[in-house]
Amino acid sequence: MINITFPDGAVRQYTTRVTALDIAKSISEGLARKIIAAEVNGEVWDATRAIENDAQLKLLTWDDDGGRKTFWHSSAHLMAEAIESFYPGVKFWVGPPVDNGFYYDVDLGDRSIIEEDLRKLEVKMAELAKQNNTYIRKPISKSEAIQYFSEKGDEYKLDLLQGLEDGEITLYIQGNFTDLCRGPHIPHTGFIKAIKLTNIAGAYWKGDEKNKQLTRIYGVTFPSQKQLDEYIQLLEEARKRDHRKLGKELSIFTLDDDVGQGLIMWLPNGTVVIEELEKLAKETENEAGYKRVVTPHIAKESMYITSGHLPYYKDNMYPPMEMEGEKYYLKSMNCPHHHKIFAAEPKSFRDLPYRIAEYGTVYRYEQSGELFGLMRVRCLHMNDAHIYCTKEQFNDEFKAVNDMYLKYFKVFGIDKYVMRLSLHSPDKLGVKYVNEPGLWIETEAMVRNALQESNIPYVEVQDEAAFYGPKIDVQIYSVIGREFTLATNQVDFSQGRSFKLEYVTSDNSTETPLIIHRAPLGTHERFIGFLLEHYAGKFPVWLAPVQVKILPISDKFLPYAKDVLQKLKKADIRAEIDDRSEKIGRKIRDTELMKVPYMLVVGEKEVNENKISIRRQGKGDLGAKDVDEFVEEVKNEIRERKSE
Ligand SMILES: [Zn+2]
Ligand SMILES: [Zn+2]
Repeated sequence: MINITFPDGAVRQYTTRVTALDIAKSISEGLARKIIAAEVNGEVWDATRAIENDAQLKLLTWDDDGGRKTFWHSSAHLMAEAIESFYPGVKFWVGPPVDNGFYYDVDLGDRSIIEEDLRKLEVKMAELAKQNNTYIRKPISKSEAIQYFSEKGDEYKLDLLQGLEDGEITLYIQGNFTDLCRGPHIPHTGFIKAIKLTNIAGAYWKGDEKNKQLTRIYGVTFPSQKQLDEYIQLLEEARKRDHRKLGKELSIFTLDDDVGQGLIMWLPNGTVVIEELEKLAKETENEAGYKRVVTPHIAKESMYITSGHLPYYKDNMYPPMEMEGEKYYLKSMNCPHHHKIFAAEPKSFRDLPYRIAEYGTVYRYEQSGELFGLMRVRCLHMNDAHIYCTKEQFNDEFKAVNDMYLKYFKVFGIDKYVMRLSLHSPDKLGVKYVNEPGLWIETEAMVRNALQESNIPYVEVQDEAAFYGPKIDVQIYSVIGREFTLATNQVDFSQGRSFKLEYVTSDNSTETPLIIHRAPLGTHERFIGFLLEHYAGKFPVWLAPVQVKILPISDKFLPYAKDVLQKLKKADIRAEIDDRSEKIGRKIRDTELMKVPYMLVVGEKEVNENKISIRRQGKGDLGAKDVDEFVEEVKNEIRERKSE
């Protein structure tokens, strides 16, 4: 008998060589039907593989990361079987799972594959899936494996075999297809109920452009047709909401080769959004007792040696500039400058907590291949602030930061978010982490406690902390469920010492403050990229670059339109007149495309009654109103930052 320990700590006894699937069946048939893999002592295994010794077991379904990866990798084998049936003699390189599906790199010889062939392959895969063929794991010696793939004539698998050691080689066989594979796989092909092959691309063997180009075929599969339909719909929606597409259509930002890659220029419309975000941040931070500061964009090498950015963070910084025999760096973080502001004047316990904020511009070197729209850039504007406090003040300060996050989530209608508390790893003290075992334990407990008191859902991960303290990564989800890493919230017990920061305590001794680094709105670049997707470009009125567009039916009504414009401008409402000599239908359509929240139509009737006819983006006609009444309503909507 062996002992199997479940995730909840329960231990059950089974005869040796029991499989995860047997164990699932012993619990319930319904559960067994959903099990596609298992985690045995932390390693993902076939659900049908015999467990020989005592083990920790987690049964995996589609809902688990490991389950999905196994499902998609098994689908790559199924696709390979279909490919081989249409293209005999095809050679296979590797077929891993990816974030959303899987691919296989294949060498079709002098044949090629086009979009239409993918449809044929999908049909074939569905036919093979229905056969419920089991994935059979077959341990085999290296020489047998070499013999098998030599006979098959697949030099790519022979190349893979070279790097493997005898005694750890396995084949996986399903239906008519055999692959060299470490596994794991799902029990049988019948789990694969919905198939979509999505893309064909070229891929150099081993990613080296000197090598032969192979054909990479991408696909995605699901345990039900419904899930595939939903996925396709989500892709469609994400395409419509692509921040690069919307950023161009709505004139939010631009890039220019002469300026340089990854250096965003904000157009007037984007700048309005930036200024509204900063206004929100300033109001919120002012209420929370922050003071604002302004710091230069460069600093001398010596400061970055003190801060530890050099050499640890050097790869992420721009190369230095030489001036008067000194080296200067563009700042990649605002912290060191802020520490210098703390140190500029003597501090006593009465000055703490000392909170300073700045929408700071930082520059980071990202490889050109990594740059992506607003998501990965080389110049960023960060909603930064640092809080210097005593240990006793930490809990309240940290909770107040959490509250600020939650307040912002509400303003922007962010319903789903996850906080990841990253902890240190004791065996890497002095290497990856400041060598202060006691302080690590203490601060980690302080952060955990504050999160729990704030009632914030969070997960803990080991060995992901910053060099100088635990951190919290905040992940938010757009309305279509896509994940964005928003910001990092860090606790720092080390930089205060490096910068010799201190305050005089009530009993006249000196102490080093704790530092909280926080940036709830992340950077303008990433956050506006997120907002474009989240709102599908339809910004709420308070954020909209143009809030109201006045559409005169003909030139005759232009003077009246101008009167209305004056009233709106006086009330600080961003308004414009469409004075083109276009038909009103065209003017409405164009304004809709620019996603302007309000359209005011003015013609004969409106002039005579001294009113305006209101249309709301996405809602249509709202009827006629008095201008002053409309102004009051919009002012209110803006002041309250209403989301609809
Ligand atoms: Zn495999
Ligand atoms: Zn910082």
